[in-house]
Amino acid sequence: MSEAEARQQLVDAMRTLDARGLNRGTSGNISVRFESGMFVTPSGVAPDRLTPDLMVFVGGDGSVAEGSARPSSEWRMHLGLYKRRADANAIVHCHARYSTILACAHREIPPLHYMVAVSGGARVPVAPYATFGSEELAEGVVRTLDGRYACLMANHGLIALAPALPVAMAIAEEIEEQAAVYCGTLAVGGPKLLDEAEMERIIGAFRQYGQR
Ligand code: 13P
Ligand code: ZN
Repeated sequence: MSEAEARQQLVDAMRTLDARGLNRGTSGNISVRFESGMFVTPSGVAPDRLTPDLMVFVGGDGSVAEGSARPSSEWRMHLGLYKRRADANAIVHCHARYSTILACAHREIPPLHYMVAVSGGARVPVAPYATFGSEELAEGVVRTLDGRYACLMANHGLIALAPALPVAMAIAEEIEEQAAVYCGTLAVGGPKLLDEAEMERIIGAFRQYGQR
């Protein structure tokens, strides 16, 4: 991927989150791994005002070139994940409504549907609350993900990572769907859960799923 492609991908992905109702306003941020660092969306810029030149390169040491926009306040969380997760090349963080509802109730998504397994686990856990942009939040998210591709963030939102940006986007969208389904089931007596063995089978089946 060229630098120009990386910058354009981030603009397009932020607009897609907004267009699909997965995020609103200046909330949320997206990054892609690039060389020894990453490109990340700028802090506090609404999707319709984003342009490729506003995307920020953050070096592996956290450095930002003079004259570039200020990186997302969550740059520590993104960079920390790239350092600890060799399988992550793209990270999507958003404040999707149903995920955020559950995150505000500190309620994980249980194994109520086989698609919960796109998170890489039988349940989608909630990372502990810490102030947005803090190193503590970055640490909590890294620990909670623990090899998974998605988790909720207490009193905040959702994060997903993957080997490529379209996959991270699809995981974020599917987890939001599962969050909505879970909220719906709570209104009709609560879900009947799948057991751990079945979730393990599903996680295995996903490794073979789709076109080879
Ligand atoms: P930024 O605009 O700084 O990326 O912050 C948005 C956000 O979601 C913080 O968690
Ligand atoms: Zn956020």
